[in-house]
Amino acid sequence: MPELPEVETVRRGLQPVMEDARFTRIEQRRVDLRFAFPEDFARRLEGRRVVSLGRRAKYLIAELDDGMALVSHLGMSGSFRIEPDGAQELKPGVFHHPRSKDGRHDHVVFHMDGPAGRARVIYNDPRRFGYMDLIARATLAEHPWFRSLGVEPTGNSLDAQTLADRLSGKAAPLKAALLDQRVIAGLGNIYVCEALWRAGLSPLKPAGRLVGKSGRPRKDLERLTADIRTVISEAIAAGGSSLRDHIQTDGTMGYFQHGFSVYDREGKACPRPGCGDTVRRIVQGGRSTFLCPRCQKH
Ligand SMILES: [Zn+2]
Repeated sequence: MPELPEVETVRRGLQPVMEDARFTRIEQRRVDLRFAFPEDFARRLEGRRVVSLGRRAKYLIAELDDGMALVSHLGMSGSFRIEPDGAQELKPGVFHHPRSKDGRHDHVVFHMDGPAGRARVIYNDPRRFGYMDLIARATLAEHPWFRSLGVEPTGNSLDAQTLADRLSGKAAPLKAALLDQRVIAGLGNIYVCEALWRAGLSPLKPAGRLVGKSGRPRKDLERLTADIRTVISEAIAAGGSSLRDHIQTDGTMGYFQHGFSVYDREGKACPRPGCGDTVRRIVQGGRSTFLCPRCQKH
């Protein structure tokens, strides 16, 4: 499943061809993905201009010039690719698990015309857990997909006091608390594992123990907050650089592999200098947690 840094990389890849561009034609090849497309989806988009392409959590939000927003979620296996007229195909976004290139799974083709020229933006999704909708921009914040989302782990919005307010009194394990989208929006399994390793915190520790009696964040929560921001921003930077490489080269670049420290590295040496222990995998809430038992004792 793409995580927030991958979605942000997709957004940055699509931005040059979509922002300020018009939808000239939409090929909608199915009535549904995970959910049904909205009624008259193609007709309502045709002729509209994209004012800006933004993101909230793992949702891409194309704000349109008629007060609506095209909101899309990649689900498990969704991806976009760009086919500029007369140029080579580009694949914005880099994923730990490779994306499909099978044309049978191209479900929507957006024909765009804008400052960057004409291009086709193609949505491919073999498992069809992704979805799209048209939502009035003014109602986005109250929409069920958005209204209970927590703070973004990017930019300056995430700070230790905000997390302390949300984790205070929670007996849930730290891993589960950080995966809760009402706490932090868009943070997924990979980057929770990575941030906990970096902060040297056990994923099993009760989340409320990171908050002092006065409701202030303890030192380890201060550290964890900084580490969450760092793992996310480094992943976005890595995605961005691979995207630039991709555009500059012959279009055959493979998928960027994030330099994970513990995620998906069961049985491998912990990369912390002098540690010498081995990365373990445990299962929490039905999902794999990767950790170093020596670095993450507390
Ligand atoms: Zn270690």
